[in-house]
This record gives sequence, structure tokens and C-alpha cells, in this order.
Amino acid sequence: MSTKTIFEPFRIKSVEPIRWTTRAQREDLLRAAHYNLFLLPAGDVLIDLLTDSGTGAMSTHQWAAIMEGDESYAGSPSFDRFKKSVQNIFGFAHVIPTHQGRAAERILFSVMCKPGDVVPNNTHFDTTRANVESAGAEAVDLPLPEARLPETQLPFKGNMDVAGLEALIARVGRERIPLVMLTVTNNSGGGQPVSMENARAVSALCHKHGIPLYIDACRFAENAYFIKLREPGYADKSPKQIAQEMFSLADGCTMSAKKDGMANIGGFLCTNNDILARQEKDLLILTEGYPTYGGLAGRDLEAIAVGVQESLEEDYLRYRIASTAYLGDHIAEHGVPIVQPPGGHAIYIDAKAFLPHIPQQQFPGVALAAELYLEGGIRSVEIGSLMFAAAARMELVRLAIPRRTYTQSHIDYVVEIILKVWQRRALIKGLRLTYEAPFLRHFTAHLEPVD
Ligand SMILES: *Cc1c(COP(=O)(O)O)cnc(C)c1O
Repeated sequence: MSTKTIFEPFRIKSVEPIRWTTRAQREDLLRAAHYNLFLLPAGDVLIDLLTDSGTGAMSTHQWAAIMEGDESYAGSPSFDRFKKSVQNIFGFAHVIPTHQGRAAERILFSVMCKPGDVVPNNTHFDTTRANVESAGAEAVDLPLPEARLPETQLPFKGNMDVAGLEALIARVGRERIPLVMLTVTNNSGGGQPVSMENARAVSALCHKHGIPLYIDACRFAENAYFIKLREPGYADKSPKQIAQEMFSLADGCTMSAKKDGMANIGGFLCTNNDILARQEKDLLILTEGYPTYGGLAGRDLEAIAVGVQESLEEDYLRYRIASTAYLGDHIAEHGVPIVQPPGGHAIYIDAKAFLPHIPQQQFPGVALAAELYLEGGIRSVEIGSLMFAAAARMELVRLAIPRRTYTQSHIDYVVEIILKVWQRRALIKGLRLTYEAPFLRHFTAHLEPVD
């Protein structure tokens, strides 16, 4: 496409009203939610950028497929269509449906890990880390050293530190590493892509030591498109060919279909290992359901079968990546510090640089997220000390863009609100914790402003 304007490659067939709130109402709502945006009623949010997970709009093809959903307990044809579509892209021998990504993680780590084990990942997502730890293993993040610096521009800033992985294997020993995980794109690391070259190097190193490689595939399509745009030798390949090549390097994957599955719910676990697959299906039956539905309705399987294919369409991916960059570029050009370059599904504001007067113990990311809500009813999420406690590397506020949901004028409004908050940033105060749960505390924590 040679035009400068990239427009949304869809028309809108069904709309959902947004209910207006005033600043005074939002002050009350925020206090009632204990300054934790997870505790807000969604109906009191104007633009919801909390997550891109399960919040996207489905296509007419997906809605049509939903009507074909077969709700048989065992052997549903919807499962056959789901499995065929997933295998067409992912290529693994076994496809195990789950109700979402974390269920796939829990089953994978319960089967593969024992106490004392170590699981390396370029960067663990929060539920991935929690599930590794819940299996008694240690979750080790191995991002590139440069990835810790928000302003550094790198085409594949999500890559794993291969030398770091080699050193870790030498230090703890192959026996204590039941698997290595590679997250594409690297969500907690800023939505940054992983190159094919890096995946190839990680795969070669794992296989040299006989360690299985699993891909956390939630944003495989966005990652494939970044490879097409940025990695030499891939410009003429389709996103699907690129995704297929990446999965051919791995032994299995976990997937949340709420991301690049373009569905509102669902996930799956894949493996090429017959013995593991049997154990995984046994566990699946215990908590998720029979292996031909795994906690999903037949109609969900149909929506995913269509969605994983749609996520690889080039018109869609071009718009998706361009619209995320649009938000990032428009705030960065006014000096707002963001993780550079803009990622696939989200823009991450560097809250430590935005609010240098707020110490880390006072959660600058949570304070900034609260302020964006007060100013304009925008819901974002902190990825920093509240989410990861001592394991936090950065203090970020993530603005995740739901797929095919908001238009450019919504994003223009978000830009305007962020710039208003940027103007009076010196007046923003930190927060202190008044309640925390023993794990994944960010979902339910209570906070209050520090005077
Ligand atoms: C969302 C996500 C998960 C977990 O998936 P859920 O469907 O939310 O359980 C795991 N890893 C990454 C990278 C994710 O983005």
C-alpha cells in the first residue's frame, strides 16, 4: 500500500455504547476501587486499555462459525475443525484445548516441573511465573541486557539472551531445566518481538542439551509480522509461513486464544511428545474437561478455529501494528517516555521517568494509571513493583489495544488525556498498600494516596 493513511480494514456492523462519567464521579469510583483499576466496574470506564486479552471484536466469519458450534461432550466436529486449524499453523502433534492460557501453563508445568527445577524464559508473563513457582520451580527471566533500558531502539528487543541461557545451563545443570520457554512477543518486556534468528539459536542450544523448547505463543501473529517487516530474508514470506517456521523450531507451545486467537475466551497446549500428551490430557480431565472441549463450549472452539487464521491476515496485521505505533509516536513526540520502539499490542509508558519524584515503594506505575483514569476515564495497567514485587525490572504503565475494537478518534482522545496528565505530572502523588493477597497481588490489592 502506497498511501500515507492506513485505515481500519473493517466496517462496523454492531456497536456498543460508551457511558460518560464526570471527573467528580471518577474520583468517587477510584476511591471505592481502592486505587486499583482492576476493582472498577467496567461500565464506569470510557476507554478500556486494561488488556488486549479477550476484549477484541469478532468478525462476521467468527460469528457465523459460532452458529456451527457442536456441543457434544465427546468427539465434537467443532473440535476437529479447531484442531485442524491450529495444526495448520502450529504444526504440533497434540492439541489440547483449555479455557485460557494459564490453564495450559498449569497443566504443562505440573507435568514437567518438580521442586528445585529452573525454568528460563525471555520474560515470564505474570501467570506463567506464578504457575512455574506454584509447581515448586524457579522462574528465571533472560531478556537481552539492553531490554532493561526503555529508550533503547532495537528491532528485536524481545529476544532471549542466548549467552545468558548457556551460562544458566552450565551453572545449574541440564537435569534441573525441564524446559525452556520463549515468549513471542515478549509481553512483560514491552510487547517486543523475538527474531527468527534468536528463536533458531535458542532452539539449537536447547536441543544440543536435550532440553525441550516451548513457545508462549499468545501473540505469534504480531511477532510474525514484525519478522516480516524487520528481519532480512522474510519480506516476501507470508505471516503464516513465518509462524509455521517459528513453531517448527519448538517442541510445543502454550497459547491464550484471547490474544492472537481473536476470541473472547480459550487457549490450548500443544506438544509433540506422546507420553506428556497423555499425562496432560489426564490432568485436563481432572480440572478442565474432556480432551475434545477442555473447558470450552463447541462454539468457542469454532471462534478460535477462524480467529487464529484471521490474525495472520496481512491487511489486519498492517493496521494492527500501525495503530499501536500511532499512539506511541504521538505521545513520544511530546516527550512522554515510552518503551521504544512501540510494541505490537500495547504502548508502555515508563512511569519511573514520567514521575521521577515518586519512589518505587510508592508504586509510580499505579499512581500514573490512577491519574489517567481520573483525567479521562482511561483504564490501563501497571507492570512494575505492584505486579512483580522484587522481581520488577521497570515501572511501566501498559496501554493495551483491544483488537479491532477502538477507532482512531478513540486513540486521539487517549493521546490528549495522556498529554494533559504529562503537563501536570509534578503534582501526582505516590500510593501505599493497605491490603495484599499472598500471590498475584496486583489483581486485588488495596492502596491509598501517600500525603
Ligand atoms: C495472556 C498471557 C498468558 C496467559 O493467558 P490467559 O488466557 O490470560 O490465561 C500467558 N502468557 C502471555 C505472554 C500472555 O500474554
